[in-house]
Amino acid sequence: MDFSESEKVTHVRAIVRAFMEKEVLPLEPALLRDGFVSLLPVLSEKRERARETGLFAAHVPARFGGGGLSLLEFAHMSEELGRSPIGHYVFNVQAPDVGNMELLMEHGTDEQKETWLRPLVKGTIRSCFTMTEPEFAGSNPVHMGTTARKDGGDWVLRGHKWFASSAEGAAFAICMAVTAPGAEDPYGRASMILVPAGTPGFEIIGNIPVMGDRGGDWASHAEVSYQNCRVPLANLIGREGAGFALAQERLGPGRIHHCMRWIGVCERALDIMCRHAATRELAPGKFLGGKQIVQEAIATSRAEIHGARLMVLHAAWKIEREGARAAGEEISVIKFTVARTLQRVLDRAIQALGALGLTSDTPLAYWYAHERAARIYDGPDEVHLSLVARRILRRYGLQVS
Ligand SMILES: Cc1cc2nc3c(=O)[nH]c(=O)nc-3n(C[C@H](O)[C@H](O)[C@H](O)COP(=O)(O)OP(=O)(O)OC[C@H]3O[C@@H](n4cnc5c(N)ncnc54)[C@H](O)[C@@H]3O)c2cc1C
Repeated sequence: MDFSESEKVTHVRAIVRAFMEKEVLPLEPALLRDGFVSLLPVLSEKRERARETGLFAAHVPARFGGGGLSLLEFAHMSEELGRSPIGHYVFNVQAPDVGNMELLMEHGTDEQKETWLRPLVKGTIRSCFTMTEPEFAGSNPVHMGTTARKDGGDWVLRGHKWFASSAEGAAFAICMAVTAPGAEDPYGRASMILVPAGTPGFEIIGNIPVMGDRGGDWASHAEVSYQNCRVPLANLIGREGAGFALAQERLGPGRIHHCMRWIGVCERALDIMCRHAATRELAPGKFLGGKQIVQEAIATSRAEIHGARLMVLHAAWKIEREGARAAGEEISVIKFTVARTLQRVLDRAIQALGALGLTSDTPLAYWYAHERAARIYDGPDEVHLSLVARRILRRYGLQVS
């Protein structure tokens, strides 16, 4: 691996960092005080300015209207954007749209690309992804209750989903539904179907309060119902029965995006911790940063972030060279490692700031609440730990199911 940063990455980082400093970070006090929804008008102005940088929807190839960065290049940009809770939204590279764009790019029909992908890339619409169900374990989505049955020229969907991020205000949902309940291969039972908002039978029951926060618009997580909801057969994404394969494909690069965003969060948290340690006087002339125990928190955080970044860049490099399937082990390793690093670094930073760390004067408390989910979504830690261990043990001749 070549560890040098390409000229393009250096250039992209500089543009994004300057934009974040000037346009995004000044919005944080209002975000932390009043919440995301109150910022929507000003955020749409910022999105206009972000478009002018040529890096709006930067992960999407130029032929679809995006910024045309490779996965590895975008990973660096994602880290810069992660330094603020709204960076990704301003550049239209926020989950779940980012994954839905990738899915439609790779597997959408020409009509789906024209109708849904192009406006998604432009940022004129948003989308959501509905896979998880309250009644079934989301960490093993082979078992799910939502079905899609063919009837004439339509799919008829029935089911109950929750934690559909950003469903409020989304123009369409991608629904994972069982289309072949009797298929021998359990991984061949489900398909992905596109459901436009407003389709009769598709209903948002309400936003779920997460860590006490009900959110709203893009920053929400909804409970959703499909009741005899009919959409044309042409709304199938990819092959019938390919739902799990597509979900894995969607989540591979998605985990790189999330992990690099978390590294951005860690860098900002470390920066806040160091600024505080360097200026907080415990007694006249005695600074917090003079205490070895605080120095250990700083140095350990630096080492963990550095290791995490190298692991993620290596995984992105491998995906680019060999594809997401070949990089399965690396992707699982970064998912649980970086999510845990994130929480340790945030916790140390809050501890170093004392009561100030719990206020909304810094984004630390916001992240501490909102990023706890990192160890659960896109596969809980345990699933990834187990997957990695089983692969390793297989090399030692032990098959564990
Ligand atoms: C903020 C947030 C946003 C989300 N956004 C979306 C979205 O947009 N769309 C969507 O479809 N879903 C979304 N999800 C849902 C997410 O994907 C699921 O929560 C996740 O897959 C885990 O499923 P579950 O919650 O049903 O937990 P379960 O599957 O019930 O697991 C519960 C716990 O059991 C443990 N566990 C599970 N499997 C194993 C194992 N094999 N070995 C040992 N322990 C295990 C883990 O600790 C796990 O946390 C979101 C979740 C959150 C928190």
